[in-house]
Parts: sequence; C-alpha cells; structure tokens
Amino acid sequence: MRDTQIKINLDYLEENIRAIRTHIGKDVILGLVLKGNAYGHGAPFMAKKLQEFGVQRFLVATLMEALQLRLENKAYHLMVMGHTPDAYLDLMVAHKIMPTLFTMKQAEILNSIGKARNQVIKVHLKLDTGFNRLGFQIQDGLIDDLLKIHAMTHLEIEGIFSHLALKDRAGDQNQFKKFMDVTQALSKHGLDIPVQHICDSIATNLYPEMHLSMVRIGALAYGLQAEEKPFPGVKQILTMDTLPSQVKRVKKGEHVSYGNRYILSEDANIVTLPFGYADGYPRSLYQGGKVRIGQHYYNYAGIICMDQCMINANNDPIDLNNRVHIIDHDQLSIAKLSKLAQTNKNEFLCRLNPRIPRHYIQEGKTVCIANELLGEINEF
Ligand SMILES: *Cc1c(COP(=O)(O)O)cnc(C)c1O
Repeated sequence: MRDTQIKINLDYLEENIRAIRTHIGKDVILGLVLKGNAYGHGAPFMAKKLQEFGVQRFLVATLMEALQLRLENKAYHLMVMGHTPDAYLDLMVAHKIMPTLFTMKQAEILNSIGKARNQVIKVHLKLDTGFNRLGFQIQDGLIDDLLKIHAMTHLEIEGIFSHLALKDRAGDQNQFKKFMDVTQALSKHGLDIPVQHICDSIATNLYPEMHLSMVRIGALAYGLQAEEKPFPGVKQILTMDTLPSQVKRVKKGEHVSYGNRYILSEDANIVTLPFGYADGYPRSLYQGGKVRIGQHYYNYAGIICMDQCMINANNDPIDLNNRVHIIDHDQLSIAKLSKLAQTNKNEFLCRLNPRIPRHYIQEGKTVCIANELLGEINEF
C-alpha cells in the first residue's frame, strides 16, 4: 500500500546473533531486548525470527509490550524490565510474564497473588548500583529485605540485575563491585541467585569479565554499535527507501514547501517523496539531510512536511521508478543520520513508527510484511 518501506535483513540478523553468541560463549544466556517495538524493527516478527535463531529470552520495558508478544506465542520467555503498576501484577502473572521487583511492597503483593493462585512466581530483583534510575538502593537493611523476599513462600528469586551508567571504566567497575558485594553477601546467607546480569550491548562488548550468567542485548542485535569499539561481525539490519510520487520542473525564483525558506536559485527538477515526520523521520534533517538515488545524493528542498518531502534533483532526470534510499549502510547509515539529527541511534530508530510497513527479507525474498492496519501479511 505504500512505496515507503523499511526493510529488515534477516540474514544479517542471524549473523549478528551468531557473532554475539560467539563472543559471550555458550554458557551465558542471551537475553534479547525487544522494547520500543524492537527498536523500531517490529517486535512480533522479530521475536519469531529470533526464536528461530535460538534466542530464548525476551526483555521488554512495559507490560503492554510483553502482552503483545504473549498474544503471538504462549511459550515465549518474557520479562518486563520496568515498573508495572500494582493493579496489573495479577494480569502479568496470569500471562506468565516475569516482573522486575525493586520494592518490598510489590514483593508482598506478588507473594499474595502467588498464594491466591496457588503458584510460585518467578521474579528478578533490580539493584540500583549507581545509575539512580530503578532498583533497590544499596543501604542498611538491604540484605535483610532481600532475604525476606527469599523467604516468601510464593516467590522464587530467579534473577538479580543492575544497569551500568557507562560513564567510564572506573565508574562501571565500581557499580559492578557493588553488585557483586550484594550477591556475595546473599550467598553467605545461603541465597545463590541463578541468573545474574549487568551488561547491555556496550558493556557486553567492553567487559567480558562482567557477563555473569546473562547479558541483555538490544542495539548490538540490530547491528548498532559504539564507534569507539566496533564489534566484529555485526551489521545494521534496517534500511529504508521509497519511490517518487511526482517529479516536476520548477522555475528559478519559485518557493518549495512551507514558508519562505527555500527559493530556487536555478530551474530544477523537484522530486516529491511520500514520507515525512509523521513517519518518525526527523523534521530537522531538512537542513543537512540527504537521500540517495543510485550513486547520487540529493538535498531536501525546503521543510520536511508531515507526510511528504521534496528533494532538489537539479537537472538530473529522475523518473517514478527510481528507488530513493533514505536509510542505507553507507553515507545514510543510522549512525550518521542520528548524529546529523543530534540524537542517538536508538532514538532515531524507535521513532520510525508502525505507519511505515516493515518488509522482512530472508535469502533475498520478502517473507513477511508487517503493516499497521492489517498486522503481518505472510502471503502475497
Ligand atoms: C534497553 C536496555 C538494555 C539494552 O540496551 P542496549 O544498549 O540496546 O543493548 C539493557 N538493559 C536495560 C535495563 C535496558 O533498559
């Protein structure tokens, strides 16, 4: 229904997963982070493929994100890393979605839910080791509190985790030490928590000594990595392109788009493209941003509108069948575009909203199109 398409290369995804596995070794659990609609890649189909590629645990930020995946597959191993309001904890348990616990109050609520349902609920504890976002703070009484949770009859502490601020190596090591001090203190009291994790993508790359029993990988699986320390064997899996909706010759002195900001200094071929900021493409890129047709890069002509934008193709003959590359692997990479838009790669991706159909491509063939209105189309 739309010429503007996001393309997800599933072969690259599989290679990325393989590269990450090789790096972490077979004994470390690979937890895949699918929050933010899988960083814009479309969570439901990504989960399906990731499972095929051997990933067994999925992590999301919110209960709704977990429920979306639960509706897809009853067997997925799902965990919410953020806060879930008290009133929804029972729903969460009913759908076998693992909560993150960071207050005694929710421990008690969950324990009574377990009692009422006559089941033992698995939880992961979150420790705040210095990020100061979410987690039990490390202070007097912490160990006693955690042991109290351990003693609750209808809770089982399967995991304990924390998150690094990635300020610098010394800061991260300091957080790691605080984390280990807590787990060791618990161990002395006979509580050995099986699944311990502190590394996200960057930390997984930088600090092999901190992998513990699980890593939480988001960015790296999608092929995004820190420039300072590239991760061998991972590639960006998402690209985006479109087709022109109209090509017109416009005379010198005419304006293009809203306002008075773009006036042609020469006659030019103006190409109208069917995407805009409602798709999540940053409006700010009208200055400095480019698209590519073949080997040629073109500037935006005037302000990017909500659903459309224009480029200045000078005197180049452009026709309606010319693919226009919006995000590619080279000069229009997510790394380069996000920098130009003064944001980070994750934000750039998360904003690409479900209005843009996702075409999933494996071995050169489209295997699924995820569409906002109709969901996943597997036959076409
Ligand atoms: C988002 C998130 C991750 C994944 O981070 P990446 O840098 O994308 O790998 C890991 N842990 C927590 C708690 C997160 O919120």
